[in-house]
Amino acid sequence: MSGSYDLAIIGAGPGGYVGAIRAAQLGMRVAVIEADKLGGVCLNWGCIPSKALLTGAELVENLTRHGEIFGISTSGLTLDYGKLIDHSRKTADRLARGVESLFKKNKITWIRGRGRLAGPRAVDVEGPDAQRVEARHVLVATGSTEWVPDGLAVDGERVLTSREALASKRRPDRLVVVGAGAVGVEFAYVYAMYGAKVTVLEMASQMLPGADPELAEVLQREFRRKGIEVRLGTRFEGVERSVAGVRVAIASEKGAEALEADQLLVAIGRRPLSADLGLEAAGVNVTKRGFVEVDARGRTAVPGVLAIGDLVGGALLAHKASEEGIAAVEFLAGARTQPLDHGAIPFCIYAQPQVAWVGLTEAQARDRFGEDLRVGRFPFTASGKALAAAHSAGFAKILAEPRYGQIVGAHVVGHGATELVAELVLALTLEATTSEIAATCHAHPTLSEAILEAALAAEGRSINF
Ligand SMILES: Cc1cc2nc3c(=O)[nH]c(=O)nc-3n(C[C@H](O)[C@H](O)[C@H](O)COP(=O)(O)OP(=O)(O)OC[C@H]3O[C@@H](n4cnc5c(N)ncnc54)[C@H](O)[C@@H]3O)c2cc1C
Repeated sequence: MSGSYDLAIIGAGPGGYVGAIRAAQLGMRVAVIEADKLGGVCLNWGCIPSKALLTGAELVENLTRHGEIFGISTSGLTLDYGKLIDHSRKTADRLARGVESLFKKNKITWIRGRGRLAGPRAVDVEGPDAQRVEARHVLVATGSTEWVPDGLAVDGERVLTSREALASKRRPDRLVVVGAGAVGVEFAYVYAMYGAKVTVLEMASQMLPGADPELAEVLQREFRRKGIEVRLGTRFEGVERSVAGVRVAIASEKGAEALEADQLLVAIGRRPLSADLGLEAAGVNVTKRGFVEVDARGRTAVPGVLAIGDLVGGALLAHKASEEGIAAVEFLAGARTQPLDHGAIPFCIYAQPQVAWVGLTEAQARDRFGEDLRVGRFPFTASGKALAAAHSAGFAKILAEPRYGQIVGAHVVGHGATELVAELVLALTLEATTSEIAATCHAHPTLSEAILEAALAAEGRSINF
C-alpha cells in the first residue's frame, strides 16, 4: 500500500475528500490519510446528521402548528426522538460509505490512521495502516472540533456538545443551549419541536452574530412564537450538577441568575485541529488561535505543504472547505488561475424560519456605498406560494451598488431560504445586476418570485408589493 504519491491529503472531510477526487480527475496519484470514517465532521457529525434531525423537527412543526389549517388533526400524535436519531445516524453512515465508493471509483488510496507531517513531502501514519507516506505535495485538511470553555466537563449525559447531542437518544424536558450561532439555533429548534422547553443564551446583542440584524430579528421573533426563549446579552458563567440535572450560572445586565435544566448544550464555536501534526516543526505558520496561515492558493509558508477548510479559518463551512480543496489542487495542477471568491460564499441556517445570505450586510454595504445604496425588500406575506404553504414569516432583501445596480449582498429569512440563496450566489459570482434578475422569468407560483420582487424593489418598480 505504501509508495510515492503526487498528493497526500491528511483528513477526509468535505475539504480533503472533495480535493482528493478533483486531484484524481486531474491525473494525480492520491492518498488520503483518515483515522475515522470518511466524510469528516460534515457527513458524520455535522451538516448531514443535523439536517436529518431538522427535517423531523420541521415535519413536527408543520403538523402541529399548521396541520389544522390543512384539515389535519394531530390528536394522538406521538414523537419518538430515538427513531429520529436512528434516521440521522443511518443517513450519515450511508453517505460515509458513499465516499468510500467514490474513492474506489477514482482510484484514491485510503490510508487508515492518524497522519503527522514528517517534513515537507512526507507524512508519518500511526494506526491500522502505519507507514511513512511520501508525496510531492501534502494537503492538510484536518478540520476543527467543538470549542469548550476551559474546565467545563462534557459528560455526554448532562453536558453535551453537538457531537454528543447527535448520538443521544434522550430528549431532555428542559434544555439550556449556550450560543445562538448556527449550531445552537439548529439544535434549539430540533429539541423544541420534539417537546423540550429550550432556553438559548447568547452573549452578543443579536442571534446569529455577524448576520444582518434584520434577519436575526425575524428569527428571534419566530423562535419566541414557537416557545423558544432567547436571552441576548447573557453570559454563560458555569454549570454544576444538580439533583434534577444541571444548574447553569448566567450573568446579564439584570445581574447573576441560575437556570435549572436537564441538560446543557454547549455550542459556542469550533477550534482548529492543528496541534500534534508536526506543522510548526516543519515551518508552517499557525496563528495564536491555531489556524494555519495560507495564501490565496492554499499554500503554507513551506513549499509543498498546503492547507484548506476549517483548519485555515474564515467561514467554518463544508462548502467553503470543498471549494478550497478544489481550488488548491487545481492550482497545483496548473488547471486554474482565479482564486476562490470568499465574498461569494453563502451562509445558511436550517432551522425554521431558515436564514441564508451571501455578500455584504446592509451596514457593510452602507459603509461602502453610502446612502445611495439600493435596497430592495419583499416580504413573504406578499408571496402567494408562501401564503399557500402557511409559511409567511420572513422576507428577501437585495443590496445593490448605486451605479449599475450590481448586487453586493442578499439576505433571506423564511421558508426555503437556504435553497433560494443559490440564485443570489450565482448573481454575485456573475456580477449580475438587479435589472438582470428582474429580466429573468421566475416560475409562478414559487418562493423564488420573492427574489425577483426584491430585485424589482431595488429598481423602484415592485409589482406585487
Ligand atoms: C453540528 C454541526 C452542523 C454543521 N452544519 C453545517 C451545515 O449545515 N453546512 C455547512 O456548510 N457546514 C456545517 N457545519 C460545519 C462543517 O461540518 C465543517 O465546516 C466542515 O466539516 C469542515 O470540513 P473540513 O474538511 O475542513 O474538516 P472536517 O470535516 O472537520 O474533517 C477533518 C477530517 O480530518 C480528520 N483528521 C483530523 N486529524 C487527523 C489526523 N491527524 N490524521 C488523519 N485524519 C485526521 C478527522 O477525523 C476528520 O475526518 C456543521 C458543523 C457542525 C458541528
